[in-house]
Amino acid sequence: MRTPPQMSPRIPFSTLARAVADGAQPAELLLEMHRDVLAALGGSASVLLERLVPSGPYVATSGRGFTDLGGAWLEAADAERLDRLAATGPALATLDGLAPLQHRLGSSQALVVRIAGPGAPGFLVVAAPAAPAPEALALADRLGLEFGLALELARLGRDAAFHRRIQEVLLVFSRGVSGTLSLDGALRSLAQDVNTLFATARTSVWLHDRRAHKLMRHAVSDGDEEARTIATDSPEPAARGMRLDRAEFIEAGGGRVLIAPLRGWRRALGTLVVEGLPPDADEAHLREAAYEIGRQLSVAIENVHLLAEVMQQRRLLEDIFNSLTDLVVVVDNQLRVVQMNHAFATRASSRAPAELNQSLEALVGPEIAGWVAEEEAAAQEPGGAARSRQFEDDRLGGTFTVTVTPLINQDGDPVGRVAVARDITRQMRLEAEREGLRQQLAQSERLASLGQFVAGIAHEINNPLQGVLGHVELLIDGAEVARPVRATLRQIYQEGDRAAKIVRDLLVFTGSRQMGREKVRVDRIVARSLASRRAARARAHVEVTREIDAEAPQVLGDPLRLQQAFVNVLVNAEHATAEQDGPRRIAVSVGRSAEGMVRVAIRDNGPGIAAEVLPRIFDPFFTTKDVGRGTGLGLTITYGIIQEHHGTISAANAPGGGAQFTIDLPAAE
Ligand code: ADP
Repeated sequence: MRTPPQMSPRIPFSTLARAVADGAQPAELLLEMHRDVLAALGGSASVLLERLVPSGPYVATSGRGFTDLGGAWLEAADAERLDRLAATGPALATLDGLAPLQHRLGSSQALVVRIAGPGAPGFLVVAAPAAPAPEALALADRLGLEFGLALELARLGRDAAFHRRIQEVLLVFSRGVSGTLSLDGALRSLAQDVNTLFATARTSVWLHDRRAHKLMRHAVSDGDEEARTIATDSPEPAARGMRLDRAEFIEAGGGRVLIAPLRGWRRALGTLVVEGLPPDADEAHLREAAYEIGRQLSVAIENVHLLAEVMQQRRLLEDIFNSLTDLVVVVDNQLRVVQMNHAFATRASSRAPAELNQSLEALVGPEIAGWVAEEEAAAQEPGGAARSRQFEDDRLGGTFTVTVTPLINQDGDPVGRVAVARDITRQMRLEAEREGLRQQLAQSERLASLGQFVAGIAHEINNPLQGVLGHVELLIDGAEVARPVRATLRQIYQEGDRAAKIVRDLLVFTGSRQMGREKVRVDRIVARSLASRRAARARAHVEVTREIDAEAPQVLGDPLRLQQAFVNVLVNAEHATAEQDGPRRIAVSVGRSAEGMVRVAIRDNGPGIAAEVLPRIFDPFFTTKDVGRGTGLGLTITYGIIQEHHGTISAANAPGGGAQFTIDLPAAE
């Protein structure tokens, strides 16, 4: 029998302390401790037995003096016997009935030291053929403590490393999510990482679709691309895991499956499912890890969902903002643009690109900018409400109704203004056109009823007048009339004839005379009209400028009447220029209107037409001229002739002064 060597209590302590200080690997540390054990207690071999799987057999996790540590060393049931034996301290045990142990130690008895730890107790077994001395037993007791500490240290080290790796996996995951904003891509690499970390066969992440009451597999570590969806009340692990509070192991598909719930704020988000665990897996450890990963994953998923919701809301608001046809611009209190919609940006960028942070003045005309600034001051008062005004703005290109509203932040402070400009250019133009049409209609209605009235009178006067003229003519031609009487008769005839001419003119105006219809060239008629007034113009020193488009289409009409219509306007123009001290000018043009009509424009540089005169110039007998010079029928007749030709005539004051008459006649087919 070997005598126990000199006890040296320092040895194990120093080994442990030195190893910890050196950051030695637990495996090396334990090997060294086994050497110390053998040195201190004697014996041929030393082994540490631990149970890695709950209720599983004991296996050797370290030892010295063996060639092979693998396989089961001690059944769980047998361990109780050892435990009882060593409960009060290291004890020498006979190994009868513990066949595998006895066989592997090659000894029928052994010193057994119970190693307390957080899980099931482990055993340090030293093949000791002889009974140890009491000092050796005391030493063994302390060694047991040392081993417990070393194991705990190793466990902590493993835990720390494992947690560091979990943190790394989660970090990679959150970087992936925030980098791509794609949850699925990041989940896939997370599933792979977790699977590697847990050394399992397959890890998958299932997400809950609340509306569909379904769970969908979003990521799986083994690259199985098949889309899998299950009902939330399915018996599958993923559905069962969703309802748990913590991670758990369950039996499914003939093996143990680890399921961890993914829970968001007040709702279930899904499940982390880990399948195919290695036989020696530390279940408690993995359960904790899975729970932790699930917890952090849930936060990330919840954040991605929230972000997606916020982005969606934001996009919706942006779409609404940009779909508005009204021009919207938001400025801060310094009148710098902080937001604008597409409509505004498009209209404001006519000269230079419209950008944020520019001053409003750079983007809109000074009038609007000034008014918004004014409103700015008004808005500083509490309750400053919206106000509207109409503007013509060259920068934005049109007429606008601008409404400015104070921009109030959530604390109730005014932080800027919202200006909305509605383009009313088209509306204004339509209104002006409508007003013009209304006036024209009123005019033609009035003239039409006047025409009927005048036509009636003209016919009534014409018949007796022709009778008077006929008789006077007979008297003049009669031989027995005295000379002075004849002269008076001639006078009567002339005046009567003048009256008859007026009646004839009236009949033209009322359209009650037959009109010829042939294709005529308007430029030719205009030329003839001008020629007929050449002598009169020369006397009055009036110059004419012409701008004739010989390509202008022909019109269907009565050339003589059209000539009369043009001459009447030309005569008025001559009269108007006569009031001019400087050069007297008439400009005549023949061309085409935008609507494809043949347009004759006659402009003079006279004094123009007074505003109160303008609405009445086409009325019969309306004249501003002295008695004898004007009858007030010239334009009335012209109006009648143009109407007969289905054309229009309008009078206006030319922008450069003087009056302008525009006659549009429909082109002949
Ligand atoms: P009259 O020439 O006999 O007065 P019109 O019917 O031709 O009759 O014209 C009516 C009135 O219209 C004129 O008295 C004059 O006041 C106004 N007028 C017509 N043409 C012109 C013109 N070119 N410039 C200014 N006033 C005009």
